[in-house]
Amino acid sequence: MGIVVENVSKQFGSFQAVNDVSLEIESGSLVALLGPSGSGKSTLLRLISGLELPDSGRILLTGKDATYQSVQKRNIGFVFQHYALFKHLTVRQNIAFGLEIRKAKKTRVKTRVEELLELVQLSGLGDRYPSQLSGGQRQRVALARALAVEPNVLLLDEPFGALDAKVRKDLRAWLRRLHDEVNVTTVFVTHDQEEAMEVSDEIVVMNKGCVEQVGTPAEIYDHPASAFVMSFIGPVN
Ligand code: ADP
Ligand code: MG
Repeated sequence: MGIVVENVSKQFGSFQAVNDVSLEIESGSLVALLGPSGSGKSTLLRLISGLELPDSGRILLTGKDATYQSVQKRNIGFVFQHYALFKHLTVRQNIAFGLEIRKAKKTRVKTRVEELLELVQLSGLGDRYPSQLSGGQRQRVALARALAVEPNVLLLDEPFGALDAKVRKDLRAWLRRLHDEVNVTTVFVTHDQEEAMEVSDEIVVMNKGCVEQVGTPAEIYDHPASAFVMSFIGPVN
């Protein structure tokens, strides 16, 4: 599903968290929202999801105005940094959760859960509880759970932020492969330039609630549009 953000602004009190942002995200692409802490990335993600309503501007999903459409209707999958899995449910039950509240048929749930376990490379761990998994494995369960209901869009807010460097690196490559297999439009938030560069088709660089630049990793790296982008993305020194 393609996403269009049209002149969207959001203020909290007197603080302008998102300032007149316009953006087009192509259907099936993997896009990173990259910027320093406080630049409005999470707010923009929440605006796309419908968890937050804009003060002005519009959000279009597949070309249709969805600005005031409910979160449920948008059929969006989420993964957050500290995405709490249900501790008292097994991996299998966690993945099945969204399907069950939608009253999917038992046989359908069973097949889909096994499919997803395989997709996130956790076959064999379906009967474990979250406490018996590593951090990286837990985030893969969270992704499987988000994907279970076949969302139109997948929104990931610093999904690997809480994990150690080695695991983050493995999960990056893994997310790229997963995306290429499932092909769902994915927007993921990160403040890590390397992560954005390595994983995404396109990077949206944010600063102080504004979009500074949109481009492929190569475009942004070779032709930074501003001093800010250059300093944020440029060669690590
Ligand atoms: P980022 O994800 O890039 O770190 P956020 O979108 O979370 O940035 O937040 C941008 C700014 O907006 C933050 O500095 C925060 O203080 C403010 N903010 C975000 N959400 C709220 C809220 N619900 N109420 C008040 N201020 C908020
Ligand atoms: Mg954030």
